[in-house]
Amino acid sequence: MEKKDMVCIVCPMSCKVTFDLDENGGITKVEGHSCPRGENYVRKELTNPTRMLTSTIKIEGAFYDRLPVITSSDIPKSKLFDVMKEINKTVVKAPVKAKDVLIADVCGLGVNIIASRSMQAVDGK
Ligand code: SF4
Repeated sequence: MEKKDMVCIVCPMSCKVTFDLDENGGITKVEGHSCPRGENYVRKELTNPTRMLTSTIKIEGAFYDRLPVITSSDIPKSKLFDVMKEINKTVVKAPVKAKDVLIADVCGLGVNIIASRSMQAVDGK
């Protein structure tokens, strides 16, 4: 039996969640979480950790050079760099509306890269 802890990052409370791992790596006891999401977070972190990814993408024809983007849902942590490579090699054209899909099914994950905000073209379109 091994005792471990982790800070839950699901909300700003940042609860310190402690848990016991048995010899097979299974969780046997979870304490310190203020709500059920804390236990879910720990279990997911140990089996399939995921994250929302926020970044920027190159945009042409707009006042700014880069447009803020976000994944449409969380993606496996192990795929963050692969997804960033796709974002870095993509160029979009203004105008773009908030929530437009800029890269569909990125890396075959079933997740889209979407615009976090609208951005007009420099000619006002
Ligand atoms: S356990 Fe619940 S209250 Fe605590 S940080 Fe996680 S989500 Fe927030």
